[in-house]
Amino acid sequence: AADATAQIGVTGLGVMGRNLARNFARNGYTVAVHNRSPHRTHELMKEYGDEGAFVPAETAQEFVAALERPRRLMIMVQAGPATDAVIDEFAALMEPGDMIIDGGNAHFADTRRREAALREQGLHFVGAGVSGGEEGALNGPSIMPGGSAESYAVLGPMFESVSAKVDGEPCSTHIGTDGAGHFVKMVHNGIEYADMQLIAEAYDLLRQVGGYSPAEIADVFRRWNEGRLGSYLIEITAEVLAHTDAETGGAFVDIVTDAAGQKGTGRWTVQTALELGSPVTAIAQATFARASSSQADLRAAYRGLPGGTTPPLSRTEAERFTAQVEQALYASKVIAYDQGWKMIQDAATEYGWSIDLAAVAGIWRGGCIIRASFLDRIRAAYTADPGLVSLLGEETFAREIGDAQVPWREVVASAARRGIPVPAFSAALSHYDTLRAERLPAALLQGQRDFFGAHTYGRTDRSGTFHTHWSRPG
Ligand code: NAP
Repeated sequence: AADATAQIGVTGLGVMGRNLARNFARNGYTVAVHNRSPHRTHELMKEYGDEGAFVPAETAQEFVAALERPRRLMIMVQAGPATDAVIDEFAALMEPGDMIIDGGNAHFADTRRREAALREQGLHFVGAGVSGGEEGALNGPSIMPGGSAESYAVLGPMFESVSAKVDGEPCSTHIGTDGAGHFVKMVHNGIEYADMQLIAEAYDLLRQVGGYSPAEIADVFRRWNEGRLGSYLIEITAEVLAHTDAETGGAFVDIVTDAAGQKGTGRWTVQTALELGSPVTAIAQATFARASSSQADLRAAYRGLPGGTTPPLSRTEAERFTAQVEQALYASKVIAYDQGWKMIQDAATEYGWSIDLAAVAGIWRGGCIIRASFLDRIRAAYTADPGLVSLLGEETFAREIGDAQVPWREVVASAARRGIPVPAFSAALSHYDTLRAERLPAALLQGQRDFFGAHTYGRTDRSGTFHTHWSRPG
């Protein structure tokens, strides 16, 4: 039997689990490793066993026995029933004070349920969002742990040591209790959907309105990456656009089927937003845009219907248009991120979480897919005013959006004139216009609701609830 020498155990040695285990070992921890089918454990030992101190375990009992107390056991398996099965198996072998960490992509509602159940047994259950994919897991992910503050006191230093670092600061922080970590990870992915769609729309406009080739647009994105749009997603966009297909010698982007896939975290964000009443419209449009692209029958039936046209742009006009698209992309991106932060605030109120919004921006600066230079400024905005309701309330963002609005409107209008779909750009602009509106036609909706359903309305000139006795049209 193994001695209890491991500071952490990882079970589920797929792509993510294996790399995280190696990351812990490279950072000096003794890591117990276990997998349902032992061949993965053997493979890890054979290929990477000399990278650090691993304790391989064949059985669940051996694995648990290898862990120092309080035991820290991290699960890296598929979300859903597989995670439940693994939790049940190990919870039965653990003792009060021990910690089970789920680093998979669980739905936060499952995490809340599991945390409550394990708390009954005296166990700490920590739902930890891990972002950055395979590469991040090995070299430094962004980690979003939920669960008790007591568990973070033990696990925090370990997570911080394996996480990505930006300016020497770790990309891990205690997000909040129970499901807060997985919730914030979900919103991260929702923002990622919006960011990707906005970038894709910008590319489409530069191509169709600006008349640029994919290689030329790659150069535009490289230039933008040097400025305020600087981010991992802009950087990889330039790479993808510059790539040529080995078989045809043409642009890679032209050989790829235009039907976007999704694994579900965008959908979860939108479903949850509807329940919270959080208008994450750019995220929703980005998620629907993926669905629309994949509706092959619908697109086949309507392809080629009449749309708008405008004369092609001259080179000088195209250059001016490119600058306008940069403004529109930046402004829309600020709105999309702002919607995500507001959704986190709404959830914090709903679930009683105390979430440091500046810290969330801080840990997304490295390791994760939406890492971007402007997260520094979002962090500064929430540090200066932790209760900030919207980034538009911060001076610099407000000024930038103000400066962007004419070109932003111009870009959305040219898309409409040309018949080019820009669901995320339009949603972001409409959201901005909703926020700044003096009056919204919601007043008329209230009238309609009172008319057909006696749903009552409030008045602008006095408090109370009112109903009108409508005379029905004959
Ligand atoms: P993977 O390579 O497909 O590996 C899956 C692992 O889960 C295997 O070790 C498998 O064991 C184990 N497993 C599945 N069902 C099980 C069950 N019923 N009982 C015990 N073990 C079971 O998966 P992955 O990509 O590493 O992802 C792991 C988790 O990380 C998922 O929740 C995923 O959503 C999340 N995640 C992934 C990424 C990414 O970029 N891939 C990024 C962030 C988060 P066997 O070898 O015995 O089949």
